[in-house]
Amino acid sequence: MLFSGGQVLRSNCHQFVFKKVDLEKKRRKVCKKCGFVDYKNPKIVTGSLVIKNKKILLCKRAISPGYGKWTFPSGYLDKSETPEEGAVREAQEEVNIKIKLQKLIIVFTARKKNLIQFVFLAKHLNKTFKPGIETLDAKYFDYNEIPWKSLAFPSVSYVLKKIGKLPQNLPIFHSFNKD
Ligand SMILES: [Zn+2]
Repeated sequence: MLFSGGQVLRSNCHQFVFKKVDLEKKRRKVCKKCGFVDYKNPKIVTGSLVIKNKKILLCKRAISPGYGKWTFPSGYLDKSETPEEGAVREAQEEVNIKIKLQKLIIVFTARKKNLIQFVFLAKHLNKTFKPGIETLDAKYFDYNEIPWKSLAFPSVSYVLKKIGKLPQNLPIFHSFNKD
């Protein structure tokens, strides 16, 4: 298959063996035909906590995982995108809002999911919001109205608990082993 960049997808090539690469100690999945190394680098997620009049914007997910549950706007980074650009794009896609990022507040590592997540504090610039196709509903919640039992992921409840009392030293780095 030929892509616009002229890149050929060698979908039938790989025949993996486990072996050491360069001077590394651990064994990795390496294609014995083309030498491709399957490094399994973490995926990167980026998102924002949009606060307005002391209320927090949450979205009800229209996709799995976490269908029908609440989260703040976030998603996977696109190719060559910065975490800041990704957070702004996700807010636009999920709730049709323009945001201005204020600061990076949390960096998560979800070890089991092999995923890193950036969370920014953000300001809502335009007046309105409207759920996008990946969102069933969107709403600004008072802190004491947060639907704690219907949050999409453990990382969402962690972030929302943390912002109840923001520490001086930001960002917070945190690892999840089970998420
Ligand atoms: Zn190969």
